[in-house]
Amino acid sequence: MTARLIDGKAVAAELRRAIAARVAGLGFRPGLRVVRVGEDPASGVYVRNKDKAAQEAGFDSATIHLPAETTEAALLAVVAGLNEDPSVDGILVQLPLPPQIRAEAVISAVAPEKDADGFHPLNAGRLASGQPGLVPCTPKGVMHLLRAADCVLPGARAVVLGRSNIVGRPMAQLLLAADCTVTIVHSRTRDLPAECRRAEILVAAVGRPAMVQGDWVAEGATVIDVGINRLPSGRLVGDVAFGPASERAAAITPVPGGVGPMTIACLLENTLEAAIARRG
Ligand code: NDP
Repeated sequence: MTARLIDGKAVAAELRRAIAARVAGLGFRPGLRVVRVGEDPASGVYVRNKDKAAQEAGFDSATIHLPAETTEAALLAVVAGLNEDPSVDGILVQLPLPPQIRAEAVISAVAPEKDADGFHPLNAGRLASGQPGLVPCTPKGVMHLLRAADCVLPGARAVVLGRSNIVGRPMAQLLLAADCTVTIVHSRTRDLPAECRRAEILVAAVGRPAMVQGDWVAEGATVIDVGINRLPSGRLVGDVAFGPASERAAAITPVPGGVGPMTIACLLENTLEAAIARRG
């Protein structure tokens, strides 16, 4: 079998167009503020892309760039100001943060109703208990991709490789909410290849280049590769050995051009949802 490609760029572009159309009909511009601390080069690229996408979709978007030596107290004061600002609907603090700042303290300081990243413990708890709330952008984007690929979710055996708060755990919760039978596997799992081979839907989010080999993939599975790994040559690859995995999968996301573009589109979707919920 040669897998069908799930085109994240196209799905993300369609979602962004739909969001822009909804924004145009609102009568106000949803406000997004992205806070960046320090000079991490990858963060610089992400933040510019987020800002550009938000502006293209009609949002009132701006980046607040603070110096690397910013203290935790100073960052918390910036977040508190954004929480209070009625024109701001979504707040995103770009990770990673410099070592003097505790990411958990900052994540917990963002007002849950403006938590565009969906990382606040209250939103994580809502997701885990099946209540509506803001959902982390990357796993939300994966759900859009699965639906766009006409993947049948109820009853499907889904395996999520990775258990981070940003991707793996919320991914598993979303699949569970969609009535999949979900297994989470991680660095202490005994037989990873065997667990992965059981998957009808396999989502890899480990951060290890091409770790998922072709024979870890069941014939006919849908494979979603969240990983973004830069090789010494500069090339970007996912967590899945794309060539061999495509020989067995029915559908697969490429890297780049798969999950990556969905993350930004879902940030816009979250900010729009937050704006509508806040402003009625
Ligand atoms: P983390 O490092 O936070 O988590 C990685 C997870 O993978 C952990 O749960 C870890 O297990 C597990 N893991 C690591 N090594 C192994 C191994 N050898 N065997 C089994 N499990 C292992 O990463 P993130 O979740 O933040 O990101 C994962 C990948 O997704 C990265 O490549 C990242 O760049 C990418 N990413 C892509 C995004 C996008 O927009 N496409 C957005 C966010 C992330 P344990 O918990 O046991 O240590």
